[in-house]
Amino acid sequence: MLLDLLAEGLVPWNVWAIVAYTLIVTHITIVSVTVFLHRHSAHRALELHPALAHFFRFWLWITTGMGTKEWTAIHRKHHATCETAEDPHSPQVMGLGKIFWKGVEMYRLAGTPETLARYGAGSPDDWVERNLYSKHTWLGIILMATTNVLLFGGIGITIWAIQMVWIPLFAAGVINGIGHFWGYRNYECGDAARNILPWGILIGGEELHNNHHTYPNSAKLSSKPWEFDIGWFWIRLFETFGLARVRSKGPVARRVEGKASLDLDTAWAILNDRFRVMSRYAEQVITPSVRTEYGKADAATRRVLRRARKALARESSIVTQRQQSTIDYVVKASHELRLIYEHRLALNEVWAKRANAEELLSGLRAWCVKAEQSGIHALQEFVTELKTYAMPAPRTA
Ligand SMILES: [Zn+2]
Ligand SMILES: [Zn+2]
Repeated sequence: MLLDLLAEGLVPWNVWAIVAYTLIVTHITIVSVTVFLHRHSAHRALELHPALAHFFRFWLWITTGMGTKEWTAIHRKHHATCETAEDPHSPQVMGLGKIFWKGVEMYRLAGTPETLARYGAGSPDDWVERNLYSKHTWLGIILMATTNVLLFGGIGITIWAIQMVWIPLFAAGVINGIGHFWGYRNYECGDAARNILPWGILIGGEELHNNHHTYPNSAKLSSKPWEFDIGWFWIRLFETFGLARVRSKGPVARRVEGKASLDLDTAWAILNDRFRVMSRYAEQVITPSVRTEYGKADAATRRVLRRARKALARESSIVTQRQQSTIDYVVKASHELRLIYEHRLALNEVWAKRANAEELLSGLRAWCVKAEQSGIHALQEFVTELKTYAMPAPRTA
């Protein structure tokens, strides 16, 4: 009887049922990590109903053995010390191979009492946490293995093994490693984070890591119309049933067509939305100027110009040596590219150096006057667009 149970399990199954079960349980784990651990616990981007939050804690205990406080603290430290020697998992500092293959080990090493005390504030510390979840980490995992064997027999162990490697592979390896190494950048945030893919399904939306590092407190990780974040889909669904409340979803700013003055309201909106403003600068000013120069250049210069668009837009603190030599070459070769590059740096300086609202406004005004006088059409058009930024109107009840 017991041997029969071990061989076949309680329910009649076929291979598709096993595949479906594996995909569903691993997806629930991914949703628990991205919605509960990441967006709710570490970043406070949304509130969760206590019952749903506890379901996620329980699920993470049986499928990963990870503790909420440990995960929250290490992740907050990652944002606070990104790409420095203090960063618990930076492929830029430690090498991609190490993070990809030893990501979980890095997590274990990083979970020191100091880190937990410094970055883990607000994590659950109730009776179940103290006496069960963090005290008997392995018990949950054994419970999951037993359930799988009861349901599916011997093959349940294989399903369990897949569950066990899912988070170490995707969250610790792919996101923490590749998400800071390969992919595209929508925004020039101050670290090396990249969007691995525009469709965040397999890793719950965490694929959009550059968007996340740019707006870490946003509950929504997709940003462009063609990007998809399945974690956000779940959050909206939970919201419909009163199980979640979103606190933030990115920068607060809007555009008012026809607005032609640069006032304090516009200055605040630009400051809030500065990453998007800079990505508009890359699209509207840098790209067309590089294209025009490319049309006029000789073969040798064209080779360098192919790399110029990204190099001229790249956040200065993460410019590589190769990108720096591209910049040096093109600003020497073209007066127009030198001007638009200098204007880009000067615009960054306006908000980096601001001490108060008046300084921000006068800095922006001075920048706009210079840009308008530059004689470069794309820059003048950019200034016109800048003036249309505004803060959202207060809601009338
Ligand atoms: Zn990161
Ligand atoms: Zn984060």
